[in-house]
Amino acid sequence: EANAGLIADLIRDVPDFPKPGIMFKDITPLLARPSGLAAAVTELVAASPRDVDLVVGMEARGFIFAAPIALALGAGFVPVRKPGKLPGATVSETFALEYGTETLTVHSDAIPAGARVLVVDDVLATGGTVAATAALLKQLDAELVQVSVLLELTALDGRAKLAEHGIERVSSVL
Ligand code: IMP
Repeated sequence: EANAGLIADLIRDVPDFPKPGIMFKDITPLLARPSGLAAAVTELVAASPRDVDLVVGMEARGFIFAAPIALALGAGFVPVRKPGKLPGATVSETFALEYGTETLTVHSDAIPAGARVLVVDDVLATGGTVAATAALLKQLDAELVQVSVLLELTALDGRAKLAEHGIERVSSVL
């Protein structure tokens, strides 16, 4: 598929970032190329369900794709952020990383109970970030309709982790 090939060609492998032994997928060349950015958004929109109320994106690269998808679907955009960034009342979830923990937060009043939500991020790796976001949605009694990512690092088997959390609808462009 033409778009998928273009997108793949514009994602750069950076060895030993952010730590030795990690091969980082750098999407900045894709974002900088107008046809690349357009192809990425087009493919993500094509893979998205139409009947969602809100698109949730995770800090920071999730924002880049979640907002244009929300526009295309006629849905709202809600940011999931690191602690201390959102000014209003929040709910939060803390999850384990390889070393230490990470916490994600969302405004409590941003997502009504029963809202149909699409979760968008750039890369699905271990699945910890998406699982924590799903737990935030559960706290707010929202319905996670689908998870859409641009790139899935299949070797890390994030899908299996998400399935353990009852999340089966996961779509990746690459
Ligand atoms: P996970 O929680 O292990 O699934 O990691 C996913 C999160 O880390 C996403 O928010 C990504 O933006 C980020 N991430 C992990 N690996 C990469 C990568 O190779 N390139 C870009 N972002 C990554």
